[in-house]
Amino acid sequence: MTGLKAGYLYDEKYAWFDSGPLNLKNLQPVEHWENPETKTRIHSLLKVSGLYNSDDLIKLTARDATQEELLRFHTKEYVDKVKELSNSNDGGSAGNEAYVCKGSYEIACRSAGGVLRAIEHVMVGEVDACYCLTRPPGHHALADQGMGFCIFNNIVLGCLHARFLANEKQKKKLRVAIVDYDVHHGNGTEAAFFDDQDVLFISLHQDNNYPLGAGGVNKHGVETNINVPLPPGSGSGAYRKAFDRIVVPAIERFKPDLILVSSGFDASFMDPLSCMMLTSDDFRGFADDLVKLAMRFCDNKIIFVHEGGYSRHYTPFCAVAVIESILGKTKENDVLVEDPFLSEAKAWGYQECQPHQARLVELVAKNHNLLSVLDDVLTPEEETVQESITGLLNSLSPSKRQLVIKNLESTPMKT
Ligand SMILES: [Zn+2]
Repeated sequence: MTGLKAGYLYDEKYAWFDSGPLNLKNLQPVEHWENPETKTRIHSLLKVSGLYNSDDLIKLTARDATQEELLRFHTKEYVDKVKELSNSNDGGSAGNEAYVCKGSYEIACRSAGGVLRAIEHVMVGEVDACYCLTRPPGHHALADQGMGFCIFNNIVLGCLHARFLANEKQKKKLRVAIVDYDVHHGNGTEAAFFDDQDVLFISLHQDNNYPLGAGGVNKHGVETNINVPLPPGSGSGAYRKAFDRIVVPAIERFKPDLILVSSGFDASFMDPLSCMMLTSDDFRGFADDLVKLAMRFCDNKIIFVHEGGYSRHYTPFCAVAVIESILGKTKENDVLVEDPFLSEAKAWGYQECQPHQARLVELVAKNHNLLSVLDDVLTPEEETVQESITGLLNSLSPSKRQLVIKNLESTPMKT
């Protein structure tokens, strides 16, 4: 695979964002999950590995989002509230699990502005792709409130900016696909574009993790809003099936002009805020698929926007794997940054797609008219039939059981 002209965007101010106190009842105070180290260690690995200094990685500089740009999605009341809290000495809550400390407003504007800057570079073709290591994250933020460590919705503002530029400069209505593989549901992004036929939003997340009650299977088959609420314990096989049966065919059907990715690594096997089992290799595979789709449909245009990922030990390997993929580095041809945890986590039990995980993927695919239900997955009723037959067979002696199975195999069945 040939690499894209790849950008990378990070700003020292991102590490200065303070997610506030983590007041856990009846427990000794402990550092907030969403802390600078989960991002600075990615930046550090990128530098120490030599990838950062390679000429192939074009370093982009963030800017601040303007108030006018924030108001394309957020309400004026909410923006004013964040500003006011940020100017006060003690800060305060901007919404559920979204705390604003002194100076948070400016850094949140820099985080959103980083994505806007990447959009500007990609839209004029100075780079094809970009990884934005932005902080604070954004995909939970709603128009009128923060949520889940997110203050402003960076990817929504990025999408709106891309459409604004396309409309302004080319008089073109841009079609954007947003893929969110953060382990939590991208509720803010879903809310922004639920009724918008020109934005395809696909969220792969742990079923009913955060926010509670959000991200269930969309039963009405809206073609441009696809939730894939995977069961806890999902690993490589379940996610691979979800990409093969849902993400790739949905994007092929939608034919976007631009792909944006909410790139959270909290579905990794080491994350404290979820129960999934992904490795850096899985995230590399997601990026490989999405980059190929961007090459086919979007004139290479793809932007990864950092979201969650709370293992300071493991997140760096996942992010670097994605950046290697954007650069076109492959296992076959290049020396990659070695993930020392990879072989062990890949060998864990139940990494293969389990029947209940496959059923969920097939259900989502069917609801969104992506694929017909395949014959290799049993429905719950069919599983009951299988259990009954197994019970009857087990009541026979081993030799008679073999005889019955042999006879059944040679008996003509109705088709
Ligand atoms: Zn998350």
